[in-house]
Amino acid sequence: MNDYQAPSALLSNKTILITGAGDGIGAVAAKTYAEHGATCILLGRTVSKLEQVYDEIVASGSPESAIIPLDLNGATTSHYEQMAMTIKDQFGRLDGVLLNASLLGHIGPFADIEPDQWQQLMQVNVNSSAFMLKALLPVLRASEHASVIFTTSSVGRVGRSFWNGYAVSKFATEGMMQVLAAEYANRNMRFNCINPGATRTQMRASAFPAEDPNTLKTPQQIMPLYLYLMGDDSLEVNGQSLDCQPKK
Ligand code: NDP
Repeated sequence: MNDYQAPSALLSNKTILITGAGDGIGAVAAKTYAEHGATCILLGRTVSKLEQVYDEIVASGSPESAIIPLDLNGATTSHYEQMAMTIKDQFGRLDGVLLNASLLGHIGPFADIEPDQWQQLMQVNVNSSAFMLKALLPVLRASEHASVIFTTSSVGRVGRSFWNGYAVSKFATEGMMQVLAAEYANRNMRFNCINPGATRTQMRASAFPAEDPNTLKTPQQIMPLYLYLMGDDSLEVNGQSLDCQPKK
């Protein structure tokens, strides 16, 4: 589905929440979803970055988005419940969630783990998704066809040395997706993972500082799968972990 050509109105009348919408893949996904007609809810921790994405969406003539400033490290269940209530009041339902925000954490020997760093990584990469989704399930169920997309990585499928807590968090992400996909199969919700593969962002540059970014795909180039899984052409797809850049 990496050559999927989305109809221009694929997401019209849909309301979609994107986490980590201020930078990298999340920012491009938000703008791409908006270009295809979605009303986007931009969640992230750096307000100036969210405002920049908001302004670009307005300038492109796409439906006006909304901003939720939230640091997933400090967010509590009451933040998520409040968020779900606001979404219900303003939009009545939620048609999609792209769980994209993540931390890379410490890349290095497992023996160097710092408990505080480990807990922050799990809080942002795993716990926030679970608690947010628990609060959002009622508004997702109000949608005719809701799509929830988790963001995984190849190191969340096969363990690799030095990838440490990040890899462990992506294994947990794959597991959460599978549990939800099984539990809600044949209902009005589907849950899948996307593995973007090596993509030109700040996170990739932090993990591979010596790499030439020009050798990497841009976030724009990997959007076909993000559109496919969010739109109704993928209604039959549930419980899958799909690659934007499959190995040839
Ligand atoms: P970036 O680091 O470029 O962007 C991550 C986004 O998440 C940023 O907007 C960041 O906000 C936000 N974020 C981080 N921590 C928090 C927090 N505590 N609360 C709220 N928002 C937060 O990453 P990418 O775009 O590269 O990655 C997007 C997803 O793709 C991640 O899940 C990543 O694991 C995955 N991935 C990426 C690959 C790649 O090669 N790029 C490869 C495989 C997977 P802020 O801008 O404020 O820091």
